[in-house]
Amino acid sequence: AAMRQSRIKRTKTVCTYCGVGCSFEIWSKDREILKVEPQVEAPVNGISTCVKGKWGWDFVNSSDRLSKPLIRKGEKFVEATWEEALEVISRKLKEISQTFGPDSIGYVASSKCSNEENYLFQKFARAVMNTNNVDNCSRYCQTPASTGLMRTVGIGADSGTIRDIARADLVLVVGANPAESHPVLATRIKRAHKLHGQKLVVVDLRLNELAERADLYLHPKPGTDLIWLNAISKYLFDQGLEDKKFLKDRVNGVEEYKQSLEKYTLEYAAEKTGITQEELVKLATMIHEAQRVCILWAMGVTQHLGGTDTSTAISNLLLVTGNYGRPGTGAYPLRGHNNVQGASDFGTMPAWFPGYEPVQDAKVRARYEQAWGVTLPEKPGLNNHQMVEAIFNGKLKAMYLFGEDMAIVDSNSNYVQAAFEKLDFFVVQDIFFTKTAQFADVVLPAAPSLEKEGTFTNTEKRIQRFYQVFEPFGESKPDWVIIQELANRMGADWSYSHPSEIMAEAASLAPIFAGISYERLEGWNSQIWPVSKDGQETPILYTERFAFPDGKARLVPVEWTAPFESGEEFDLHLNNGRLLEHFHEGNMTYRSAGITHKVPNPWLEVSPQLAQERGIKDGALVRLTSPYGKVKVRVLVTDNVKGKELYLTMNSFKDMEAVNRLTSSYHDRITHTPNYKEIGVKMEVLEPE
Ligand code: SF4
Repeated sequence: AAMRQSRIKRTKTVCTYCGVGCSFEIWSKDREILKVEPQVEAPVNGISTCVKGKWGWDFVNSSDRLSKPLIRKGEKFVEATWEEALEVISRKLKEISQTFGPDSIGYVASSKCSNEENYLFQKFARAVMNTNNVDNCSRYCQTPASTGLMRTVGIGADSGTIRDIARADLVLVVGANPAESHPVLATRIKRAHKLHGQKLVVVDLRLNELAERADLYLHPKPGTDLIWLNAISKYLFDQGLEDKKFLKDRVNGVEEYKQSLEKYTLEYAAEKTGITQEELVKLATMIHEAQRVCILWAMGVTQHLGGTDTSTAISNLLLVTGNYGRPGTGAYPLRGHNNVQGASDFGTMPAWFPGYEPVQDAKVRARYEQAWGVTLPEKPGLNNHQMVEAIFNGKLKAMYLFGEDMAIVDSNSNYVQAAFEKLDFFVVQDIFFTKTAQFADVVLPAAPSLEKEGTFTNTEKRIQRFYQVFEPFGESKPDWVIIQELANRMGADWSYSHPSEIMAEAASLAPIFAGISYERLEGWNSQIWPVSKDGQETPILYTERFAFPDGKARLVPVEWTAPFESGEEFDLHLNNGRLLEHFHEGNMTYRSAGITHKVPNPWLEVSPQLAQERGIKDGALVRLTSPYGKVKVRVLVTDNVKGKELYLTMNSFKDMEAVNRLTSSYHDRITHTPNYKEIGVKMEVLEPE
């Protein structure tokens, strides 16, 4: 028994799915996962996990895993050695860069990969390939929230910790569905609400699980959140209920902001949003009466033409009511992927070095130039959205993308896929042969988190280490190893032998990571940035100062942008989002038996009113058509949705066409985040039941 026991290995890891950042032990024997065991020491989740963290790991041993590099030969892919694949990539990238300039190549990073891998990838783009054309998928989700926060309070991240949310008197959830998207975080809210009298308000198109429990649930018309947010600020000022001392001591721009609210009266707000004046006053009063308010939001706010402005309006409201800098207060844009926060933090963004220092700042650039021994480009690069446009206008000739299924997760996938067809050269690095890989010239097999070491940063800016459970599958390699090998072939002289050395370099260059080290992150330890050199972390931001030179926050006037109209013919509004069991495009969860067994198929939620009007029954097969494409799906009639509003899960479920066949290429004008939540569709019944 002792012998057998000794073959069982217990390894601490961090969940590969959502931004909550649960950590747990994986019990394994050879290549088999015996169980997933959370431990009390886990800083975020303690002994909890959700279904994905518990059952979502079979994909690691899936026979679909890429085990060798592939090179396109005409319409086919043939297996190649690493030597051959890297030779082709370095030759082609050099050729294209020399002929069309460094900015003719785009680099797309991965929010599923580690901080160290993202750091290395932006270093590859900037230092080796001499371009700032590097971005990650936060462009598709929370960049509007980060930008709204940078404008108002200075740092584009959650202002407190997940545990802290439980200390709020009032939690306001806007355009988010934490019970399915951030389950363990939602459990904390449910507990605080049930046991400690915390008040819960949900504002959402869909009656989601938290909305059902809420003390107040408000259903605005699609795309009108900014209006009610501004109206509540105005009402509080009009009643003299703003936090006068906080505004006087800690906030700039109060008068100008107040004036900007003039048109946002209760009457106007009620007319535009469909929320009654009484409900608005009730919410304003609840916010005023609570000592500590935090606001949580996600894609329902950000994925609109005015996503950045609405995020700004949320932060403005928190400032007006003095809800920053104390436990149980603040802004919580909920991060989607396990490392979408970290990918941005570590510099895979076109305008920022690691730690959000601008590439245009000569002093900052000089620091990196000295450390890396190169001259760096000054001009901010293209973001993901601009890369697609640049392919069509002939400026972008090649792309290198890792751990991102952009062909189906970017909006308007027909358009994006047509762009990929036009690329002269395309490298895709992933664990599976994704839909995006079908457009590649070279596909490189990468290793997921269980097959390497690294760190992830969760939604609350907490950095945690994960350790290696298995050897990389087949000939696959950790992404950081691949990036380093390629960089060295292209003239760099990198010699990182472990991710800890990459982190040490990032810590030496980016002030917000100054005190982060693998030693301090050992085991269950974690650090929440900014971390000073002596290791002092910052769980709550803005306790004394906001992150601007004068230490004061800024109220920023914002106006409503009406949502995109698809035209009269497209008479139904299609909302979309996550499901508890599956994750995003589904490449990992569909390959995890415990999960697909439970939820094998997607569905479209249709309201009882609409179902009756059109004679549609549960299980009917319908076709949705938008100006951009078509999707076939089965119907679930439910009062989760109302009237002419539909809800479709955003997963692609194997061969089913994903929601992004329907979405448009329109986007938030500030961040270029697509307006995924503003689709008009028409619905035809193909099979009545
Ligand atoms: Fe993983 Fe998120 Fe579930 Fe935690 S809540 S186990 S991080 S998917």
